[in-house]
Amino acid sequence: MTGIVIAIDGPAGTGKSTVSREVARRLKLAYFDTGATYRVGTLYCLREGVDLSNEADVAAMVDTMNVELRLDPGNPRVILDDEDVSSLIRTDSVALSVSSIATNLEARNILGHMQRDVIAAELEGGFSEGRGIVAEGRDITTVIAPDAPVRILLTADEETRIARRSGEGADQATVREAVLGRDAKDSTVVNFHTAADGVHFIDTSDLTIDEVVAAVIKLAEEARA
Ligand code: C5P
Repeated sequence: MTGIVIAIDGPAGTGKSTVSREVARRLKLAYFDTGATYRVGTLYCLREGVDLSNEADVAAMVDTMNVELRLDPGNPRVILDDEDVSSLIRTDSVALSVSSIATNLEARNILGHMQRDVIAAELEGGFSEGRGIVAEGRDITTVIAPDAPVRILLTADEETRIARRSGEGADQATVREAVLGRDAKDSTVVNFHTAADGVHFIDTSDLTIDEVVAAVIKLAEEARA
C-alpha cells in the first residue's frame, strides 16, 4: 500500500503552511512546501546575478540548481549547494521577486517536474516510510497532484490575510505587496482562488489554526476509510 497524498492550495496568509505542517506532524507524514522550490530558485538567480526578466536564463538556472529538500515537518530544510538556506528564502527580497519565477512558464514546468518527483519518491519510502505526504502550494490540487485523495483549497478574506502577515514583523506597505501584489501576479498563471471539482473549500477567516487542522485531518480520515 502506498501512502496518502494531501494536497493543500491557497493564497498567502491563509495559514496554509502552518496548517499543512501541523497536519503532517500529527499524521506522521512528510511535509512538502512547494513554495520553497520557487523561493530557492529565486534566491539562486538573485545570487548569480541573473536578469529575472530573461525567461530562458532563469529557466536554465532553475534547471541546474543543486537543491535538497528535507521533508520532516518538525524541521523542514532547504539546502542549496550544501548551504542551509531555509531562512534566507523567507526574506523580503526573495518574497518580492518570487512571482517572476512563478510566472515563467518554462521555470514552472521544471519545478513542477521536481515537485512530482519529490512526491513520488516520498510515496516509495523517504521520511514518512511510505505513509504519505502533505504538499502545499498554489497548483497542487489542480496541476501537480490532481489525483490526490485529499485536495483542499484554503482561503481567507484580504484584511485577515494581511493582518496575519503583519504579525510577522514587516512594514505595512511591504506586507500588502508581499500578500496582495504577489497573489495578483501569481494569479496570472494559476487559479488558486476558486476550488476545482472535487476540491474541498475551507474559509479560514474565522477559524483558529487548530480548527483548520482538525478539519483537514477529518477529511484525510474520511478519504482513508
Ligand atoms: O507559499 P509561498 O508563499 O512560500 O510561495 C512563494 C511563491 O511561490 C508564491 O508567491 C508563488 O509565486 C510561488 N508558488 C507557485 N506555485 C506553487 C507554490 C508557490 O507559483 N505551487
